[in-house]
Amino acid sequence: MNLSLIVPVYNEQDNLPLLFEAIAESMNALGQTWEVIYVDDGSRDNSLSVLSEQAQKDPEHTRVVSFRRNFGQTAAIAAGLDHSRGEIIVLLDADLQNDPRDIPMLLKKLDEGYDLVSGWRKQRKDNAITRNFPSMMANKIISLVTGVELHDYGCTLKAYRREALEGFRLYGEMHRFIPVFAHSVGARITEVVVNHQPRRFGKTKYGLERTAKVILDLFTVKFLVSFSSKPIYLFGGAGGILMIISAMIMIYLFVRRIFFLVGVTGSPLFQTSVMFFILGFQSMLMGLIAELLVRTYHESQRKPTYTVRAKINLKDD
Ligand code: UDP
Ligand code: MG
Repeated sequence: MNLSLIVPVYNEQDNLPLLFEAIAESMNALGQTWEVIYVDDGSRDNSLSVLSEQAQKDPEHTRVVSFRRNFGQTAAIAAGLDHSRGEIIVLLDADLQNDPRDIPMLLKKLDEGYDLVSGWRKQRKDNAITRNFPSMMANKIISLVTGVELHDYGCTLKAYRREALEGFRLYGEMHRFIPVFAHSVGARITEVVVNHQPRRFGKTKYGLERTAKVILDLFTVKFLVSFSSKPIYLFGGAGGILMIISAMIMIYLFVRRIFFLVGVTGSPLFQTSVMFFILGFQSMLMGLIAELLVRTYHESQRKPTYTVRAKINLKDD
């Protein structure tokens, strides 16, 4: 199997027939073996029956996973990944906002040696105030914080080499951060401008609250990517800074005591200094506990702390 398309589906009954056609059209032109994994994320409309009908009509290419209830787009994507067999994975939305005809272009970019090609909805056709503007800000912040510069993290249409997706799992709403995780395991990443259409049938499942969640997720992602194998650097660093501030205040108080005869313990600075010392010490201890957790995490799963691109004169496995 060369190519696996993964499509999360939640209440998209009217979009699906058009999607089947568009996918078949652009895939058959490629001349590769391909499959589509539709993950029905607990739809309440007829999406599932539309999908099973399609699975009967085109068993060669159509696979369906159906969730017992709505688990969210990220879970749907994770299930799709677990059940896919292609060496190359393409994610896209079921609502025809992404254009399956862009897929060959993404694949061509992968062939140039990239591990991940991200779609960029340069002319995005969603609500400007609740979606496009917040999303633009979020993309800027994510690029700045993670150092992985992409214009459109939120665009589902992206192509991946399977290796770039190994070594991490998706939680919460984190599918948009796949490029950050992939970058952290050494993937080469690029982006191309893709088409975007307004939604014709059904309605969007997200609003402004989405951006708030994305920013919160960013904290987790940054921490995991930068410190998950060395948390003591973060906790110990913060603790160290607090203890240095504490010491400087203390020195100032004693110098003042000696030269100007002002009492040490009467000043609120004294209490501040003591508080900073305790916080700093606590933070260092937390760092040590985090170090224990990291070891449990890696060793219980025999998970290496590195990723290998290739081996020479070494048998695989
Ligand atoms: N989706 C899903 N589970 C959800 C919400 C959305 O599988 O809980 C799917 C949805 O069917 C669509 C894709 O995720 O295929 C993107 O959703 P939507 O079009 O609502 O997002 P937007 O394009 O407005 O960002
Ligand atoms: Mg959409």
